[in-house]
Amino acid sequence: MFSSILGYKVFNKGEEELFRCINNYDKVHIISGNPEVLNNGLKNKELFKNFTSENSIIIPDGIGTVIASKALKQGIEKKIAGIDLMEKLLINCEREGKSVYLLGAREEVLQKCIKNLKIKHPRLIISGSHNGFFDLNNCDELITEINNLKPYALFVAMGAPRQELFITRYMNGLNANIFMGVGGCFDVFAGEVKRAPKWMINLGLEWLYRVSKEPYRIKRLGSIPVFIAKAIFKS
Ligand code: UDP
Repeated sequence: MFSSILGYKVFNKGEEELFRCINNYDKVHIISGNPEVLNNGLKNKELFKNFTSENSIIIPDGIGTVIASKALKQGIEKKIAGIDLMEKLLINCEREGKSVYLLGAREEVLQKCIKNLKIKHPRLIISGSHNGFFDLNNCDELITEINNLKPYALFVAMGAPRQELFITRYMNGLNANIFMGVGGCFDVFAGEVKRAPKWMINLGLEWLYRVSKEPYRIKRLGSIPVFIAKAIFKS
């Protein structure tokens, strides 16, 4: 069910198995394992320990991760996009009456995201929210608020590595079951950023679309060849 890449166990099965796997945990950190996030883990002991702990599931959210697995003959069938998984979790939460807490993005984006999610998922319980601009080392009030609300899922959209650092530091003391860093998903739900067309997603070219829309992202693409090279030469 998992492929071994650079010390990480990356989930390599389909969606049904993934949900079965998630449901087996009382508390789980779902990590969108794209090369940038996984490289961050290789550079930071605290993150690496969390990413490789029993309470983490790394999903292959990036064509670079899929290529690395193929190069190592550790075949991951296909990429699982974090945003697709988040949407499915939202649908399940709505159906099962489980609440979610949304943490991250700018206040205005967060409010638009909530408004649109309420339209799309009228019965979804969004028990609380907070923007993503606060001091990671000084956020006791936020932690207390989340603990009082006891959401089933906490989605953290603060970009990498900030969102993974927040989850790594606080998940043990937080009353929630699912913790997931979701990058720019709130921006997409808010309608501020568009996802790539389906054909580009299917060809594994979502990164190209994002760079064409936000050229400053080009620097971050370097993490893809770096990760693949590390996987090949260090394994
Ligand atoms: N963000 C945040 N706090 C910060 C920095 C960024 O909440 O200190 C938000 C930012 O407003 C955006 C999201 O994090 O909504 C980051 O999205 P990005 O597109 O960088 O993430 P990616 O999808 O590339 O991982």
